Amino acid sequence: MPIPLHEKSLLRNQGYINGQWQDADEQRVYPVINPATGQTITMVADMGASETKTAIKAADQAWPAWRSLTAKDRAAILKRWFERIKIHAEDLARLITLEQGKPLAEAKGEVGYGASFIEWFAEEGKRAYGSVIPSPLADRMLLTIKQPIGVCAAITPWNFPLAMITRKVAPALAAGCTVVCKPAEATPLTALALAVLADQADIPPGVFNIVPCDASHVPEVGQTLCESPVIRKLSFTGSTAVGRRLMQQSAPTIKKLSLELGGNAPFIVFDDADLDAAVEGVLASKYRNAGQTCVCANRIYVQDTVYQVFAEKLAARVQEMTVGIGTEPGVMIGPLINSAALNKVQAHIADALAGGAKVLVGGTLHQLGGLFFKPTILTDVSQSMRIAREETFGPIAPLFRFHTEEEVITMANASEFGLAAYFYARDIGRVLRVASAIEAGMVCVNSGLLSNEVAPFGGVKQSGIGREGAREGLEEYLEIKYVTLAGL
Ligand code: ADP
Repeated sequence: MPIPLHEKSLLRNQGYINGQWQDADEQRVYPVINPATGQTITMVADMGASETKTAIKAADQAWPAWRSLTAKDRAAILKRWFERIKIHAEDLARLITLEQGKPLAEAKGEVGYGASFIEWFAEEGKRAYGSVIPSPLADRMLLTIKQPIGVCAAITPWNFPLAMITRKVAPALAAGCTVVCKPAEATPLTALALAVLADQADIPPGVFNIVPCDASHVPEVGQTLCESPVIRKLSFTGSTAVGRRLMQQSAPTIKKLSLELGGNAPFIVFDDADLDAAVEGVLASKYRNAGQTCVCANRIYVQDTVYQVFAEKLAARVQEMTVGIGTEPGVMIGPLINSAALNKVQAHIADALAGGAKVLVGGTLHQLGGLFFKPTILTDVSQSMRIAREETFGPIAPLFRFHTEEEVITMANASEFGLAAYFYARDIGRVLRVASAIEAGMVCVNSGLLSNEVAPFGGVKQSGIGREGAREGLEEYLEIKYVTLAGL
């Protein structure tokens, strides 16, 4: 099948190590599948422990020269990478839609969002300030300086094949670290295209390496990265179960960790909310990427006095949503990523229906079949159902009913996760009370979209450790060195 790219050289199927395109040992390859059609897009190198070790060595050797550049010099290189991405935004978006399935308009949004981290951190890298601390001793001066932590590993998910890489790699490189990245097995092509553009931007060999692999090699690549004493830091975005495992594997080498894990976002509609705005917020937060983002609304709590009218308004809008292949015009919901994702969605619905929930809209596979699922609304959902506890990662909006503010805060916080939370209300006292009472790393009031490059993204509880984006995102790749000068 021809790949619809303007710039054919963006399509790569080898790994990128030490500035070279490399085959896997024994020429191992695996298929990358288009989730919309089930067809193989291309075969890609299936690397393992030995190629990962080669990449770690390359990143280690590249580190001294890269960290020795001034932040301004690194910024100039990063800005070239940003420019290359902007020039090829259309092709990158096509690659994202091809291997991941999201509608092309969303894929273009991801390219812009992903590129923004490179632009932001290129600048922010110049502001890795240390400090001078007033000394308690007369003959001393106390200083702190910020230094790059070293060689870093990045393990990224398939739901944002471009942005989850740049959100980690841009601050790492800006800080003066080098990176070995293992992209998700489902979406290596966008990662490799990013490497083509990094190469064109003259990011030096070894500074940014990509080791693609199939699911069967993921554990050994992950283990090699975690167990390597050369890797000083691991940044991971993915499920809580895998994050926990990586944390365990990283314990012997006491690695610094950034973990951006699962979420189970509450979305609360209070009786004083602008209901039309709240409906738009649910559409943006719940159905974006077919519900496959870690900040997607997963539990929609609606106050009983507005429950009925809100459900009707939401149903009217959800019924209009077009499902289809992401490259076709007007499509708002693409396929799910794979059959495991589809099974989970169906299991969550079956469990909810068995517990007394009702289908208001959708609830079944779309007529296109395959991995296409109808956008769905469930009503009369309760806290005991699976959908209340687990991240669904699909286009299902479960509506829960609540009576009081205190009750809904308890319901919202009854989760092991604490990534994003949303609520709609106008009363300023309520807005401030709820924003501070909700256990989440990010609270979004009166909107369904919250992430950008200047704000700290991350979770509390079992949703993770650390922040990405913002000033805080740079700190994740820096160590503080305290220097004391005595005998002055
Ligand atoms: P999802 O269920 O959404 O695919 P995962 O946590 O399984 O989320 O995947 C996120 C990333 O973690 C992917 O790059 C995947 O390959 C990687 N991954 C999964 N299992 C492991 C593992 N045992 N070691 C290292 N990385 C892993």
